[in-house]
Amino acid sequence: MSKQFDKIVSLCKRRGFVFPSSEIYGGLGATYDYGPLGAELKRSVSARWWRAMVFAHDNIVGLDASILMHPRVWKASGHVDAFHDPLIDDKVSKRRYKADQLIEGYIAKLRKRGKVAQADAVHARLVDALHADNPAKALHAIIMDEEIPSPDSGAFDWSDVRQFNLMFETHVGAVASNDTRIYLRPETAQGIFVNTFNVADTARLKVPFGIAQVGKAFRNEIVARQFIFRMREFEQMEMQYFVEPGTQREAYEEWREKRFQWHCSNGIRKANLRWHVHDKPAHYADAAVDIQYRFPIGWQEIEGIHSRTDYDLTRHQEYAGKKMQVFNPQTGDRYVPFVVETSAGLDRTILMLLCEAYREEVVDGTPRTVMGFEPSLAPITAAVFPLIRRGEMADRARRIADSMRGMFNVLYDDRGSIGKRYRRMDEVGTPLCFTVDRQTLEDGTITVRSRDTLQQERIDQEHALAYVTAVLTSP
Ligand code: ATP
Repeated sequence: MSKQFDKIVSLCKRRGFVFPSSEIYGGLGATYDYGPLGAELKRSVSARWWRAMVFAHDNIVGLDASILMHPRVWKASGHVDAFHDPLIDDKVSKRRYKADQLIEGYIAKLRKRGKVAQADAVHARLVDALHADNPAKALHAIIMDEEIPSPDSGAFDWSDVRQFNLMFETHVGAVASNDTRIYLRPETAQGIFVNTFNVADTARLKVPFGIAQVGKAFRNEIVARQFIFRMREFEQMEMQYFVEPGTQREAYEEWREKRFQWHCSNGIRKANLRWHVHDKPAHYADAAVDIQYRFPIGWQEIEGIHSRTDYDLTRHQEYAGKKMQVFNPQTGDRYVPFVVETSAGLDRTILMLLCEAYREEVVDGTPRTVMGFEPSLAPITAAVFPLIRRGEMADRARRIADSMRGMFNVLYDDRGSIGKRYRRMDEVGTPLCFTVDRQTLEDGTITVRSRDTLQQERIDQEHALAYVTAVLTSP
């Protein structure tokens, strides 16, 4: 992992953004808990997504479906039979890789070294392999022919490529048998599909319409590492948009653009985002593109926009024996709507925001670490400090902090020098710090200090709340 990434991981732990799950027992692989600051960030991002998807569109509504679903859902969706990753083991390091990603990494390296023709040839073989009858065998052949070494050990000592199902199984009721086997949902989308007509009928929606949901998903990821980038329990923010067949391309273009813009509106620089078009969309899709972010560990997916055709609804129609159709008043016919999906990882979005925000700089000869979050996403919006811990200064500072409580997350801090308090707030990305000092007692003004510009100005103590509001709402 990169040094920068290590520093971000360590800051997350030290300041209470993210902890390894069950840490006192040595942790549980690829599961994490959000601490006080991480929980704030997660709530803000999720609420912001909800506003952008549900509140901002009069034809999109929300849903909150359960994690446990009827097992036939996963038969119908294809997950029982097809939700596999092709995996290969490095016998020396005992590390496991996704075979297709290993080859993609190799192609990227060839390109970097200027071996464009070879890169193109391997790429063409990869596309063929993904479409082959036996993708595992075809992927293995590429790795053997190209003698692709293991990225961690450098060895060329691989196992066969094997397909591994990623769904977590559990049982309903007290007696475990094949009949009681159910799964923890590997994606939130199916909760939307099985409820499409409950929602459309009760909310009186006509095509085109969307259903949005934020919720947990579970995948028994084998190549689980890189902190919260790939977890076994994670959260998705998904929206399924139902359209008339033939209009899916238009909806797909519209949503890929909107979703890209949304990430920019959260303070992500455009230069750190890019598209990645799928060579082989999943079996259910007629087009698919990922939005990727330039993480310190390389370009990686944060969100997928998939044109899922009528695959899911048609399959549920077949497996559940229920009509999954809408009426077309123009033709008098009924049809199964097509679906365009936007599927973002909440945790990956958070990791992206953490990576984007992290910076180290030297100010007046002193180094500082700053999390430059977009102000409305900062876990602590404002901090209030009394210069002296006791007496009138402390009372006033408490009153100012209390005047903002309930509106934003406000921190009152009276420990250490003011300089140290500023540094602590910079490190967690608090955009504004207010200080009550001697002059406050004379003329009722306080200093406000900006995280980014480091400028300080004096304002009336009564104006603290208005000042924060103005910063939060300024474009
Ligand atoms: P990847 O190729 O990275 O495994 P995917 O293509 O399987 O991802 P999707 O099924 O399209 O992912 O899921 C949509 C989004 O859910 C992804 O863009 C990602 O942000 C998030 N996501 C998927 N798997 C995980 C995971 N194991 N941990 C955290 N987030 C995940």
